[in-house]
Amino acid sequence: QLVLEEEETIEFVRATQLQGNEVSRRTKESVQAVRRSLPVFPFREELLAAIADHQVLIIEGETGSGKTTQIPQYLFEEGYTKKGMKIACTQPRRVAAMSVAARVAREMGVKLGNEVGYSIRFEDCTSERTVLRYMTDGMLLREFLSEPDLASYSVVMVDEAHERTLHTDILFGLIKDVARFRPELKVLVASATLDTARFSTFFDDAPVFRIPGRRFPVDIFYTKAPEADYLEACVVSVLQIHVTQPPGDILVFLTGQEEIEAACEMLQDRCRRLGSKIRELLVLPIYANLPSDMQARIFQPTPPGARKVVVATNIAETSLTIEGIIYVLDPGFCKQKSYNPRTGMESLTVTPCSKASANQRAGRAGRVAAGKCFRLYTAWAYQHELEETTVPEIQRTSLGNVVLLLKSLGIHDLMHFDFLDPPPYETLLLALEQLYALGALNHLGELTTSGRKMAELPVDPMLSKMILASEKYSCSEEILTVAAMLSVNNSIFYRPKDKVVHADNARVNFFLPGGDHLVLLNVYTQWAESGYSSQWCYENFVQFRSMRRARDVREQLEGLLERVEVGLSSCQGDYIRVRKAITAGYFYHTARLTRSGYRTVKQQQTVFIHPNSSLFEEQPRWLLYHELVLTTKEFMRQVLEIESSWLLEVAPHYYKAKELEDPHSKKMPKKIGKTREELG
Ligand code: ADP
Ligand code: MG
Repeated sequence: QLVLEEEETIEFVRATQLQGNEVSRRTKESVQAVRRSLPVFPFREELLAAIADHQVLIIEGETGSGKTTQIPQYLFEEGYTKKGMKIACTQPRRVAAMSVAARVAREMGVKLGNEVGYSIRFEDCTSERTVLRYMTDGMLLREFLSEPDLASYSVVMVDEAHERTLHTDILFGLIKDVARFRPELKVLVASATLDTARFSTFFDDAPVFRIPGRRFPVDIFYTKAPEADYLEACVVSVLQIHVTQPPGDILVFLTGQEEIEAACEMLQDRCRRLGSKIRELLVLPIYANLPSDMQARIFQPTPPGARKVVVATNIAETSLTIEGIIYVLDPGFCKQKSYNPRTGMESLTVTPCSKASANQRAGRAGRVAAGKCFRLYTAWAYQHELEETTVPEIQRTSLGNVVLLLKSLGIHDLMHFDFLDPPPYETLLLALEQLYALGALNHLGELTTSGRKMAELPVDPMLSKMILASEKYSCSEEILTVAAMLSVNNSIFYRPKDKVVHADNARVNFFLPGGDHLVLLNVYTQWAESGYSSQWCYENFVQFRSMRRARDVREQLEGLLERVEVGLSSCQGDYIRVRKAITAGYFYHTARLTRSGYRTVKQQQTVFIHPNSSLFEEQPRWLLYHELVLTTKEFMRQVLEIESSWLLEVAPHYYKAKELEDPHSKKMPKKIGKTREELG
């Protein structure tokens, strides 16, 4: 059954075999039987005894062994939630927190949001009754603001610790401290089979509890030569696996929503063209912004005769277990933040993943039976080009947010905070400097009133500052919308392949002079005027679910305005005020047009306007950007035209009039002219 043309196939070569343990086949049974079949189950009593005996326990286990879904339930059954005490289980990713909580609620036969709930930024699905709380690590961090000793929690489980996200790393330091003066608090650090010795050392040699893994052998294949276009190569390889390999679902790792959507579209398109020549292929995406009903679909069993392909971000590496995966396709990339403390520039880059990551990905193929992993890179590249492990996020991100939070918790001496891996000194220093520039800290490094307010808002310091500044420019209504739209980032416009021209026209129709922030405002305002209609979204090539999320975020932020003493007010169409308020938050992110293109104002870095921007053709002289994304170039995304004089108005302490002078319009200084004459 070979229906693919020669040039449509990619040649893979087999590498070594990973050895795994034998296990009996899992059968579909009742929920309880499934629970009992998980690798962690035989260790239930032993694990509970270890937790009783030790304050801090490191738990290591293969992905899918039941750490996340089972251990909190064991603790619940054991009575750790008596007297209204709660159990927290943190996840680095929103999707994981939601999906796992839903699963556990189902296993316990309760309604999600009652005994079991989740809490993620801008979305709280918990109630007074909620004793098992799945939450993002960032949310637990914010809990410290209202409850510095976590007094209402009996157990804190920091899950997916190996991910080493910034928030998880900060949690380690804070929890270690709390544990010292709350001896009855239990701390569990759960991790895939990586790095556990480090965690143990950090927590004063806490014992490590190992859940023996079950893994079938996974055959690894590499490409013979590097692939120029990995997205295309992915699509081709999926079809190739589909037509040549025995039954079993496929898991593909891509780097983000845009890529995943593109790949899914390409796959569906080609399947449609091949028609009845191939068996049915269900194409399912999974990424952070995917609505939960769509997320749930990846867990549904594949109908007989069909094959499922799940196209995922690295969320599927260890956070979520999808049953039935036999084939893994790994292009070897992930999206990573990187930060240059010298320039203060943070960028999101598609980079090769680490070996540890590649091995986790391969492992996903061997959970239910012997599997195969196809790597879209060469064996040589694996050996020589991939780093051993991923650098912890704390060493490659800006720290403004976290420093502000720690300062609000009364931790002043950040240089001596108990970090698992300390951030670079310059990064910490720059965060302090930026917070000072934003007015959040005074010259002694102490939190100001404005800083305290900024910490109240669950957004980045620059965004908080922008919201606070909207009070002065009387435009909080508009600024809230801009803030909400910015936080659902880059998923507003819908651009189907077969209607590119229509979609682009629809987008251009929203353009307003001034730039992308005003375009976002315009989209939202028109949508609100339509009565938040989904039909309106459909007609205007706008993603309804992104808009619905923006509306949620906006409502939440609006609810916080009173706490930060900002009143509701509208600019009544005077967009200069809106632009000034944005500038008050983002004066750090400014660029000016020079003879050789855009340069950032302070650091003189070369940057470019993203082709999707409404200002791409206008090329205004001065602008600010929301974020910098490094793909083929350093692209500024969401840009706004500003006037240089505004920078002096909103940040006189940061800019000097002199550095904002325009070299083009500047006349030749008289003195030089005179010298010339004299010479002449
Ligand atoms: P670990 O945390 O050790 O990786 P989990 O507790 O996440 O393991 O997973 C245990 C089992 O629960 C796995 O077999 C997985 O397939 C199943 N599971 C987890 N979440 C869901 C879900 N949302 N829907 C269906 N099954 C799930
Ligand atoms: Mg887990």
